Amino acid sequence: MRLSFEFFPPRTREGEQSLGKVAAKLDDFSPDFFSCTYGAGGSTRAGTREVVAHLGALGMSCAPHLSIGSDTQDEINHQLDAYAALDVNRIVALRGDPPSGMARSHLVNNAETLVRWIREHSGNRFHLEVAAYPEVHPDAVSPEQDLDYFKRKVDAGANSAITQYFYNVHAYFDFLARCDRANLNIPIIPGIMPLTNYEGIVRFSQNCGADIPRWIRKQLETRQDDKKSLLAFGVEVVTRLCEDLVAAGVSGLHFYTLNRWGASSKICRNLGLENPGG
Ligand code: FAD
Repeated sequence: MRLSFEFFPPRTREGEQSLGKVAAKLDDFSPDFFSCTYGAGGSTRAGTREVVAHLGALGMSCAPHLSIGSDTQDEINHQLDAYAALDVNRIVALRGDPPSGMARSHLVNNAETLVRWIREHSGNRFHLEVAAYPEVHPDAVSPEQDLDYFKRKVDAGANSAITQYFYNVHAYFDFLARCDRANLNIPIIPGIMPLTNYEGIVRFSQNCGADIPRWIRKQLETRQDDKKSLLAFGVEVVTRLCEDLVAAGVSGLHFYTLNRWGASSKICRNLGLENPGG
């Protein structure tokens, strides 16, 4: 089963130093790759590339996320060449969300264009991942139209997709069934967000359109002043979610680590994903 762990570019020197240690801990599970997010508008362009280079130097393969933001096609091509020079073989291609203060109109409005640009410039040099939304992207006019746009990204050359996180496994299965009916045959890997706090996950989920079922939200709220109890609950719930996914035969799991190893590694260990030699 394919396994991957997502990071974001650290904002501080301490964060930079700890990321290598976090990656080393997660490397015990022999992931197929790590990935590193990208601030639309290029706000983390150097940071993303530094993480990719840093992990590459440690022998770990890291897929950069990339979005057009306000870049021209030439600027995107320049980044693709830089990644090819770093021996990168996988890119997560996204529309991206604009940094606060930057209007959406400054951005090219869809990931499909980026997928086309990458294929145009780099051919099949990179395996291209795109994003998918079992609970429907917040800007989408309808689930049907969202699926249609997802299909267009695949037709443009995406090889596989990683989903937005979800806690309702039926939303994911329903999405897979709809993709199947639309003849979308690429692997659609579930994105897994460990539950490690209350306020952050509630706020973030509102923005990205991920639903936190009431029973989970209530449990997190009740435990918000008891970190240990909240973490234990979160690991148990997300382990069960992953077990259901694995039992249903998913071809992989992608963890949103938030640059921490604790919860993700406990869940992976519960799932028996530890490399016996690691
Ligand atoms: P798209 O696939 O372009 O879809 C965006 C919206 O536009 C959808 O509502 C879709 O229905 C609609 N749409 C698509 N094509 C068209 C079209 N041709 N015409 C009209 N409407 C269209 N954000 C970051 O900023 N940096 C990251 O590194 C990052 N990593 C992510 C990783 C994963 C696995 C996921 C799931 C999300 C990530 N995000 C990241 C968030 C993502 O950028 C946002 O959800 C963003 O709003 C949409 O990006 P997308 O690539 O899915 O866009």
